[in-house]
Amino acid sequence: MAGRKQPQTTAAATGAITSSQPQVAAGDANDIARMVEDLDAMLSRLRLGAIRDQLDGLLEEAAQRNWNLREALAWLCAAEVASKEQRRLAMAMTIAHFPCVRTLEGFEFEAQPSIDPGKIRDLATCRWVANGDNVVLLGPPGVGKTHLEVALGREAVTRGYSVQFTTAMELLGSLVKGQQQGTLEVRLAQYAKPRLLIIDELGYLPLEPEAGHLFFQLISRRYEQGSVLISSNRPVEEWDEVFGDQVVAAAILDRLLHHSHVVTIRGDSYRLREKRRSGLFRLQAGGSSSAGSSGSSPPPPAELA
Ligand code: ADP
Ligand code: MG
Repeated sequence: MAGRKQPQTTAAATGAITSSQPQVAAGDANDIARMVEDLDAMLSRLRLGAIRDQLDGLLEEAAQRNWNLREALAWLCAAEVASKEQRRLAMAMTIAHFPCVRTLEGFEFEAQPSIDPGKIRDLATCRWVANGDNVVLLGPPGVGKTHLEVALGREAVTRGYSVQFTTAMELLGSLVKGQQQGTLEVRLAQYAKPRLLIIDELGYLPLEPEAGHLFFQLISRRYEQGSVLISSNRPVEEWDEVFGDQVVAAAILDRLLHHSHVVTIRGDSYRLREKRRSGLFRLQAGGSSSAGSSGSSPPPPAELA
């Protein structure tokens, strides 16, 4: 650099590494040939697996497009970044433990007019996860609660948030067991960790008497720290029955609903709607469904557990 005083001691004298350039004598064909031979190993060592595996194709393409070295390097790096991002996504999706693959693109909003598509699109931006808000999905069975939970959970994973999907039964079963075995703290910490915890199917099955207190502990711990996306077939007014304790239910709802978005889905079960379409079910006068004769109807759609 012009004007700067050069250091008195040379790198050779101190043994310090002053340059990251490989020690290759200019034009030494043997050295460069050896490095090319070691290229795969060096790329492996640098954990640049995508560049290593696709190198021939990538270089060929770069040559075809007449890119200079900087452009070619950017192209190779972009391939590596894309590959790493894909792997991160796949890993995060696995860790999230979604019970199935469901997407917002696969959700038919026309089938569920009580849902405001704009509201769901807004939730899909995951600003609520960034803010630590909660989402409560309420509605009868089959209206798409689990579908939306998985779809919104996948959006959150895609945006880089840690997500864990569980059912209310699994979660509370684990906490009750933790209490009995003296590992409650570990389990609470585990469920408090993900940025978004999805709790499916609260209210379907009766809970153990101590479940309400344990659930309260978890919700308190996550309060204003991490988001909860919870679904229930029971309106919140009935949660005291769900938890078997009015005071505990009120305390849970107080925290859960403080910064929250509540989506109430009304209407028919999508599963029955599909069956009705296929002729397996007929809508009777009064709106209730009943099994109809359907010897040759196509198989029902794939359902969630
Ligand atoms: P819930 O959790 O409310 O009981 P699910 O989300 O399990 O309902 O929905 C039942 C099945 O119907 C799933 O396979 C789901 O993907 C599908 N489904 C529900 N609603 C819709 C919808 N509006 N568009 C597309 N598929 C739907
Ligand atoms: Mg469900």
